[in-house]
Amino acid sequence: MSEAGCPFCAIIDGRAPAAIVLSDERVLAFMDLRQAVPGHVLVIPRRHVADIYALPLDDAAAVMQTAVRVAQALRAEYDPPGLNLWQSNGAAAGQEVLHFHLHLHARRPGDGLFRLYPKGLPSHSSASWREAAAQALRLRLAGQELP
Ligand SMILES: [Zn+2]
Repeated sequence: MSEAGCPFCAIIDGRAPAAIVLSDERVLAFMDLRQAVPGHVLVIPRRHVADIYALPLDDAAAVMQTAVRVAQALRAEYDPPGLNLWQSNGAAAGQEVLHFHLHLHARRPGDGLFRLYPKGLPSHSSASWREAAAQALRLRLAGQELP
């Protein structure tokens, strides 16, 4: 289902151009316009969902299967020494387009792209905090309803 005003739905519908890497009945993979690093690909579900919270499991599986295939193609084509998968949900996480998307970034030392973790360990890294957090999440998983 296409969403008015969504730039990724416009690509899916053929109303906006994109350099397509892979297209099938569930997903589309295309070159990111900004190419943060050479070999920067986006994988999106054809179905418009804003974020991971709305992503049906079958679309999630299709996105990840495509990511694995695209990763193999990126390695064969660019032979990068590293590869990141990057996915953001919500403005606080830096999500700019509200259509679920998974980035693949071919990485090279010194490429200037992000460093994920700050140096040092924050106070909530204790073993007891981690165990309490895991217990809380196990309870959430047991009672969850999925899209
Ligand atoms: Zn969309």
